[in-house]
Amino acid sequence: MENNKVVLVLVDGLRPDAVQQCKHPFLREFMEKQCTYSYNGLTIMPSLTLPCHMSLFHSVGADRHGILNNTYIRPSHAIDGLFDVLHAHKKKNFFYRTWHELRDLCRPGALSRDIFINYYTYDNAADVELCECACRDIAAEQPDFVFYYSGNSDEKAHKYGWMGEEYMAAVELASRNIEKIYHALPEGYSMVITADHGGHARTHGTDMPEDMTIPIAFYGPQWEKGKELEQIRLLDIAPTIVDMMGCEAPADWDGVSLLKK
Ligand SMILES: [Zn+2]
Repeated sequence: MENNKVVLVLVDGLRPDAVQQCKHPFLREFMEKQCTYSYNGLTIMPSLTLPCHMSLFHSVGADRHGILNNTYIRPSHAIDGLFDVLHAHKKKNFFYRTWHELRDLCRPGALSRDIFINYYTYDNAADVELCECACRDIAAEQPDFVFYYSGNSDEKAHKYGWMGEEYMAAVELASRNIEKIYHALPEGYSMVITADHGGHARTHGTDMPEDMTIPIAFYGPQWEKGKELEQIRLLDIAPTIVDMMGCEAPADWDGVSLLKK
């Protein structure tokens, strides 16, 4: 049985071409040389932050989780999410975030740690501090599953435009932070890197390829290095992670594990 520990890193609004053009080369080189990866991952509609996170964690489309914008509404039929499933398997979940709205990604009690540093108060420093905090905790306490969320790139893109100078600087910071997390990983950790959605001009939410296409990468002993996958879905990430960790996905999840048996 597989029993890997997993760190999932999500960079909000990260487009695949931003990974390819980023001046800090770590993320691109890591994906292309160390991971099984795709620059052609498909997110869900509406391509908005909270609906995409709900789909990522619950492996269903917005028609099934019912979250259509960034305001959370309690669903009438709740589906177990990634944090809930891992918690039921006695896994220790740590969550790091700069955006408060992500508080509803799991049921109460599923998190062993929940660190929130507000982007709107601290700007770039929120990401720097959050990353240091995550690196420290991972090295010292070795949680089973970590979700590290970085919102800086999306905020800069809304203000200054996707693929502009400020957005690309935020992507550089994300690449630098992912490098730090990678170097902080003790033996036995795998990593999954993705985005919730892309963006165009100063917005997202449409079904345009610029909004819908995301990078997805899997790193660890179960993954072939440097293998590019053609098209994979955001919905497949949660089933893949539970599979990597030797747990079972709920029957009502729509995604499938990408792990080759
Ligand atoms: Zn956004």
